[in-house]
Amino acid sequence: MGEFDLIARFFKRPTPQAVLGVGDDCALLQPAPGTQLAISSDMLVEGRHFLSTVDPYKLGHKALAVNLSDLAACGAKPLAFTLALALPRADEAWLAPFSRGLLALADAHGCELVGGDTTQGPLNICITVFGEVPVVNGRSQAHLRSGAQAGDDLYVSGTLGDARLALEVFRGTVCVPGPVFEAARLRMEQPTPRVALGLALRGIATAAIDVSDGLLGDLGHILKQSGVGATVNTEIALTLIKTRVACMNATDLSGTELLPSQWLTWALAGGDDYELLFTASASARSRVAAAAQASQTTVTRIGQIEQERGLRLVDGQGQAVPNTYTSFDHFA
Ligand code: ADP
Ligand code: MG
Repeated sequence: MGEFDLIARFFKRPTPQAVLGVGDDCALLQPAPGTQLAISSDMLVEGRHFLSTVDPYKLGHKALAVNLSDLAACGAKPLAFTLALALPRADEAWLAPFSRGLLALADAHGCELVGGDTTQGPLNICITVFGEVPVVNGRSQAHLRSGAQAGDDLYVSGTLGDARLALEVFRGTVCVPGPVFEAARLRMEQPTPRVALGLALRGIATAAIDVSDGLLGDLGHILKQSGVGATVNTEIALTLIKTRVACMNATDLSGTELLPSQWLTWALAGGDDYELLFTASASARSRVAAAAQASQTTVTRIGQIEQERGLRLVDGQGQAVPNTYTSFDHFA
């Protein structure tokens, strides 16, 4: 199978929305009048972002999911994406499930594969997504990291820390019952991009980011770019770990039961959650609740934005908790 057969067989598809899809030097998109294009790229590198043993179907899903998550954070509607792929060899048994996983998620979000590049090399997957954000009265509806204001509530969607639990099981540092591992693994390998929530929060959220490197680290970007501080309730964060309830008898390698502090580290700094962390005015609580319901996504208020710079953690009684958490950094 040659390069062009490979593209035609696995990646060329009808693209009814795009003006021009795969097969020419450029794809052509026509943004709707009164909209802006939102563009984001994410690269997945073998050994860095995924294990060589991962199911290619799930890898296809995840490669697009992490990109759609960025559109979700901005409140952009997915339109199209490109796929730059380096492959060690043209292996049909890998390509077929990879493209199925990728295109199933693409179809679910009406996001068309319109182009890309294919080359021989160590496995590397780079996707660029294009989304659409309306401009209303001359103002972009995109949620930026810079829009949080003192007094705003701080919310996070879905659950936290489960993907990190799965990673620790793969690394062999913890041991959990099979069903708990399967639930955690699903969160790690097939994250759900919160696109519907991102769209429902247009005009409601003042700032947003998707949680990819760990909640506190990603919150730090909002705080810095908005010039504000925040207090986060750790007791609430601890309740957001889906697998924890089912996992009270999980142990580490020495057979010791996992401590709440260990779970908390995963919730606050675990990474790979792909949830939305966002702020909204305290007067918008009922609108946030309605957006959560409309998008069938749980949303939890975990803190507030304050004038005083810096990040403060408190327990359920409001007592200060030391912040010793570090989020993921490729070069740290
Ligand atoms: P060029 O040499 O002009 O850059 P290519 O020969 O690399 O174009 O690609 C031919 C066509 O196939 C282009 O339309 C390109 O966008 C598309 N394409 C290449 N690789 C992929 C891929 N992995 N997925 C989707 N489209 C692809
Ligand atoms: Mg060309």
